Amino acid sequence: MKKIGIIGAMELEVEALKAKMTIENTVQKASMEFLEGTLNQTEVVIVRSGIGKVNAALCTQILCDLFQVSHIINTGVAGSLKAEINIGDIVASTDALHHDVDARVFGYPLGEVPQMGCLSFAADDHLLNLAVSCCKEVNPDISVYQGRIVSGDQFISDKKVKESLIENFQAFCVEMEGASIAHAAYLNHIPFVIIRAISDKADDSAEMDYPAFEKAAAAHSAALVEHMLPLI
Ligand code: SAH
Repeated sequence: MKKIGIIGAMELEVEALKAKMTIENTVQKASMEFLEGTLNQTEVVIVRSGIGKVNAALCTQILCDLFQVSHIINTGVAGSLKAEINIGDIVASTDALHHDVDARVFGYPLGEVPQMGCLSFAADDHLLNLAVSCCKEVNPDISVYQGRIVSGDQFISDKKVKESLIENFQAFCVEMEGASIAHAAYLNHIPFVIIRAISDKADDSAEMDYPAFEKAAAAHSAALVEHMLPLI
């Protein structure tokens, strides 16, 4: 049966979805509150994971173990890594990787977790295609891109660091949770997609832009997720 796990790192990324859902059950686990119920005629479990890769990975595993979700969607905000991807635009993941993993001394490419057998974790094609087509309907004024998302336990707000991420990974945007959700979903054989609206450009202007744009960006991403649900 179809049951969609929806993860946002921060409250503002899931608050609109929580407000619209019909809650049937609330479960506390690992200091997270999992809301089980329906949204847009679809069974969902919505949760705020907390920020960073450890919180997001734990949260994903709980969605698999305790709720047996069939699909996972991560909604939220991110820093753009491409000049043409502007604040407010949306990136849906083709794949995700950990930009802060480095075992090159053993011959692994930068970003690859040793012995995993893959550099990045591929998103589900159906979820990705739905995200792109629904975005054009829900947010016609916003450009939607499909590409690689990279994650690490750092807020990127430095032009040089940004440039190294672009050069090393050819990624479209950077955030702090997506790769660990992708990684955990991959290990559990659960299809996933990461959907992120751009809140900043991950450069020296990010410190100013992020607080100004995070709320509107998070709302765009959440609206898209809500619209996708019955089509999954
Ligand atoms: N405002 C928060 C901290 C946010 S950390 C506080 O003070 O509590 C940034 C969050 O937005 C993370 O969840 C991350 O996934 C995302 N994000 C947006 N822009 C980012 C960037 N430039 N670098 C890394 N993560 C970014």
